[in-house]
Parts: sequence; C-alpha cells; structure tokens
Amino acid sequence: MKITFLGTGTSQGIPVIGSNHPVCLSKDKKDKRLRVSILVEWDNYSYVVDCGPDFRYQMLRSGCSRIDGILFTHEHSDHVLGFDDIRPFYFKQGEIPIYAHKRVLKALKKRFDYVFKIENKYPGAPSVITNKIKNKPFQLNNLEVIPVKGDHDGIQVFGFRFKDFAYLTDMKTVKEKEVKKLEGVKVLVVNALRIEPHRSHFNLEEALHFIKKVKPETAYLTHISHLLGFHEDVEKTLPENVFLAYDNLQITI
Ligand SMILES: [Zn+2]
Repeated sequence: MKITFLGTGTSQGIPVIGSNHPVCLSKDKKDKRLRVSILVEWDNYSYVVDCGPDFRYQMLRSGCSRIDGILFTHEHSDHVLGFDDIRPFYFKQGEIPIYAHKRVLKALKKRFDYVFKIENKYPGAPSVITNKIKNKPFQLNNLEVIPVKGDHDGIQVFGFRFKDFAYLTDMKTVKEKEVKKLEGVKVLVVNALRIEPHRSHFNLEEALHFIKKVKPETAYLTHISHLLGFHEDVEKTLPENVFLAYDNLQITI
C-alpha cells in the first residue's frame, strides 16, 4: 500500500495569504502545505481521503489520473471545497463513488446541489454514487476499512484504518473504545495543529500523547498550522518514531 500526502496544512494552508510570519515566508519546501488530503493506493486501486480547495492542484501535482472513490472525514470547507473538480474523473470514468457519514452527505447535497440533481441536470456537472458510512467496517474493493470516530468541537469526524495504516485528522478527543480499533497499527497519521491548545484540534502535546497510547511503529503529524513552527526545527524535538508529514511525502506500508 502506498500513501501520498497530497496536503498537510491546516484550513488556511501555509503560507497564509498576506502573512509575514517567518514560517509563511520560509524557503523550505517542507514549510509549504496545502490543505490536508491523502491518496491511498493498493493493487490497482486509488482512493482519496477528503477533497479540499487544493484538490485540483493536488491531482495534477501527484499525477493521479484515476480515482476509485473519495472518503470524507467531515464536511468542513478545508475538506470538501474541491468537490466540483472531480469533473475530469467523472468525464473519463463515470459516476465517482463517495463515502461519508450521512450528515456529511447532507452537507455536500446542500453545498453542491447541482451534483445531486436528478432532473434537468447541467451536462457538465459531475455525478457521484453515494455510500453512507456508519461507525462500522466497510469494504473498498478487496480491502476492509475501519472507521475511527473522533470529536472535533462537537462534530463527529471519521478517521480511517486501512490494514496496518490509519489516518486521523481534525480530532480533538477520541474515546477509548475507538482508540482500541487502532491496536497493532504500524503507521499512524494524526493531526497536530500547533503548540498552544486549540478547541477543536490536537495540539502537539495532545497528538504525542495520543501516539504514545496507540503505540504505532511510526507516526506522522498532519493538519499543521504555521504556528507549529519551522518543519526542520519541530522535527528535531519529536520522539524517534514521530515525524512531521510534508506535502508530496510518500510512504509504502
Ligand atoms: Zn480541517
């Protein structure tokens, strides 16, 4: 299984528009972060988790020319705003399967009503096949995916476990019952926004505490704000098996 980090930044991305913060002005490529998303590939399948405002560029940059579906963690703008840009995939492949909690599907239907229109639909609009995810395992082709539920300031968010790999973003709290689902995972990705606490995201300390609890072989941090600091500096402070993810990073599991 191959994972590509398409984006590793928080909702505004890094650099933030108009910001003079040193991290936003950094020349280090690893300090440039698009909005969070990953591409998960195995056998001949490729799935994207989330479809934020940078989706078009992320698909071009990664050279991804075919997707088997999109999984959504939740409906916030930084995770869904690229939805219209699934059009090239739709034109080539037909209806694109999407997987999301029913509340997220409802939000997508509201924001992108034309995608879900049945009568008098504009011919250039994409079409999707909706798959409702509940908090129980579901199948993506030959692979079982286990949703892991977390809380994001009162909003339920799904992380996903794909065999030995798990991807969790926008988590603030995760109940013990859900943490158990991550037992034995080899590579864990989890969000770490910044040093200071935040109401809806793990800060660095909370993320490291969570990693200690799950005990993966390796962990990567994502959904990173410029306030976390320079990539190079922060990485030096991390435990041996924990790394900051960065855009274009690929890992094979
Ligand atoms: Zn987010």
